[in-house]
Amino acid sequence: MQVHPELLDELKQYGTFDISACFNCGNCTAVCRLAQTDASFPRRLIRCGQTGLQDSIQTTVNPWLCYYCGECSETCPRQASPAEYMMALRRYLIGQYDITGISKLFFRNSWVQSILTVAMLIALFAGFMSYVGDFGKLAAMLEVFFPVYVSVVIVLYLFQIYRYVIIKPLGQLAFSIRPRHFYEALYHGFTQINFTRCEKADLWRWRSHWLVMSGYVITLLLSNLHLLEPLHRQYTPFAPVSLLIWYAGLSVTVGGGLMLLRRVRKSSESSKHSHPSDWLFVTALFLIGLTVLATHIANVAFGPESAILGVLYKLNIAIETTWIVIVVPFSKWIHIFFRPLAIYLHHTLREVQQGTAFTLKIGQRQGSSVA
Ligand code: SF4
Ligand code: SF4
Repeated sequence: MQVHPELLDELKQYGTFDISACFNCGNCTAVCRLAQTDASFPRRLIRCGQTGLQDSIQTTVNPWLCYYCGECSETCPRQASPAEYMMALRRYLIGQYDITGISKLFFRNSWVQSILTVAMLIALFAGFMSYVGDFGKLAAMLEVFFPVYVSVVIVLYLFQIYRYVIIKPLGQLAFSIRPRHFYEALYHGFTQINFTRCEKADLWRWRSHWLVMSGYVITLLLSNLHLLEPLHRQYTPFAPVSLLIWYAGLSVTVGGGLMLLRRVRKSSESSKHSHPSDWLFVTALFLIGLTVLATHIANVAFGPESAILGVLYKLNIAIETTWIVIVVPFSKWIHIFFRPLAIYLHHTLREVQQGTAFTLKIGQRQGSSVA
């Protein structure tokens, strides 16, 4: 197996940790719930980072199984911050899976992503404000483009993670066909229930994720079903669609606001080490929620023709377009899909070892996974 001595320095560009200080005492493994099924979690990955075993890191799903409870960092006697190391590995892996190389550039030079985001937002808002056609129609066209673009991004990422974790190390296609593995992956992916299973259950973190996730999904459904048309129709405050818009706007605003507050207050281990991309992510979410809410208030209060509604809606669409194009594909948002897939692939790898997975040989085995 090839050793890459520069790996640790490279990983340090993705987070604030110091695993060089680790003296392998095992405290992190002793407290980590995931060590109940993998006796070396997270120490083996720390060792891989220390010794430059890049292939082992690239071909494992383990960083995606970690749910950043932070208990390993709290018990580390060397302040090596193993939890933040796992977070840095996730950012590093997004950079490896992204075939465009843009994530890598953004994670290592966050100012580039921030400047591009602000520039695109200003340019779009100015463009929308000077648009003389029917902006409602333009917004509807953009809302058709969003899911297509995001679906292409997700499929490419999921193929890459599958290639790194299954095809590359095993030289074959492998699938688990047990329904409970699909169910477990979807259940954990949607609920993030592990956030509530830390020794000191971080319920606010779980609640804020739940609010954002449910509100965001409803916003997507409303826009893609063309039920969100504030410039073309007036909503009454208690109509069924209106209630959904209130819920979506409020949940994303409150959930995003709670996430921001946790990072400002550094109230737990998982919010202590914010990478600049984390700030961008939660701020954008908060602004999306706020502008959805403000647009709906303006629609209900002043009607679809009002000037203030036009400005708010254009601002909302400018933020959402910037978010979809620059933030979503190159930030932790993509975790939403990686975590369930990682859970599924984790089971698949177990089944490969037990000989119960469905497999199809397609090439040469190139390395080994630490999963
Ligand atoms: S607790 Fe800290 S020093 Fe001990 S093995 Fe884990 S990271 Fe290393
Ligand atoms: S953050 Fe929690 S889940 Fe992740 S490695 Fe540390 S103890 Fe385990």
